[in-house]
Amino acid sequence: MTHPFPKTLLDWYDSHARDLPWRIGPGGDVRPDPYRVWLSEIMLQQTTVATVKAYFERFTSRWPTVQALAAAPRDEVLAEWAGLGYYARARNLHACAQVIVTDHDGAFPRTEAELRTLPGVGLYTAAAIASIAFDEAATVVDGNIERVMARLHAVTDPLPGAKKRLYTLAADATPQHRPGDYAQAVMDFGATICTPRNPSCGQCPVSDLCQARVQGIAATLPRKTPKKAKPTRLGTCYLARRADGAILLTTRPDKGLLGGMAELPGTDWAIEAPAPAPPLAADWRAMGEVRHTFTHFHLVLTVLRADLPVDTRADRGRWTPASSMDGEALPTLMRKALECGLGPGRLI
Ligand code: SF4
Repeated sequence: MTHPFPKTLLDWYDSHARDLPWRIGPGGDVRPDPYRVWLSEIMLQQTTVATVKAYFERFTSRWPTVQALAAAPRDEVLAEWAGLGYYARARNLHACAQVIVTDHDGAFPRTEAELRTLPGVGLYTAAAIASIAFDEAATVVDGNIERVMARLHAVTDPLPGAKKRLYTLAADATPQHRPGDYAQAVMDFGATICTPRNPSCGQCPVSDLCQARVQGIAATLPRKTPKKAKPTRLGTCYLARRADGAILLTTRPDKGLLGGMAELPGTDWAIEAPAPAPPLAADWRAMGEVRHTFTHFHLVLTVLRADLPVDTRADRGRWTPASSMDGEALPTLMRKALECGLGPGRLI
C-alpha cells in the first residue's frame, strides 16, 4: 500500500510553501533554473535561510549565470562569500562553475549520478538539484528529513548510526509524482512545523501518521550519540597598521581551513600556545582576545597591534589600503580580530 505521507505533505505544501528567492512555487510546469538551485543549496549547507537570502541576491545579481560565475576571478568570489563560513564551499563553487562551462557546455548535468561528479556536490546536494531542478525521484536526505523520518517511524536508534535506516525510510517515501515539490515540501515542513525543538504537532498535517507523537517522544527524536568535547587551540595574530591606514594582510594556503582567504599574519593555532611569529619587528601591544568556534575546535586568538611609519616594510604579506579592505576575502574570524584591534565599528 502506498504510504499516505507524501500525498498529504504535497497537499500541505501547495498552500504553505515558503516564498524563497531561488524558488518557483509549487505545481506548474516551469522548472527552476538549475544554476539558482545549485547556488542556493551550496549556500544553505550549514547556513540558515535568513543569512543565505542576502548572499544569494548579491551573487545572482553580480553573476546571473554559471558562465558569469566561471569567468569571475576567484578572489572576487571568495570576497563575496566572506562571512558565510565553510570556505571550501566557495572554492568548490568556483571550480564547479568552471567544470560546467568547460566540460558540460555550460549546462548542468540532469541526473543525481552525473551531478555527483562535480566539485563540492555531495550526495545530498546532487539529489536536491536532480529532484528540484529536473524532477528526478532522487532520495533527498538532510537533517530535516532525518528528523521527520525518525519521528514518523519512531526510530529511537541514535545518529549517526541510524543514518542508513533513515535513508531507506526516506527513499521509500519519495514519490514518483512531483518529487521536486516533495523535496521542498519536506524542507519547509521540517523548518516550520516539525522543528528540532518543540515541534508543532497540533498544526501538523501528518500527525495521524506519526508514531513518535503517539508514543509522546516526538521532541526527543532524532536521538544523537553524544559528541566529544571540542579542544581549544590558541594562536596570535598581528595587526600591523601604517600611518596611512594600510593594514598588512596575507593569504592562507589554498588547502585546509579557510583556504585561500585573507588574514592578519599570525602564528599557527595549537593546543600549546605557539611561539611568537611577528611579520616584522615592532612594539606589539596586546589589544584583546577573539573567540571563534570551528567544526572541530574552539580558537582563542590573541590580537596584537603595532602602529608603524608609512614606509615600513614587512617580511611577508601585502599592505592593503583601508579603501580596498571591502574587496578582501576576510572570514568572520578576521573581521572580529580587526574589530578587536581597531575598536568596534572601525573595521576599515
Ligand atoms: Fe513532527 Fe509532530 Fe507532525 Fe510528528 S506530529 S511529524 S513530530 S510535527
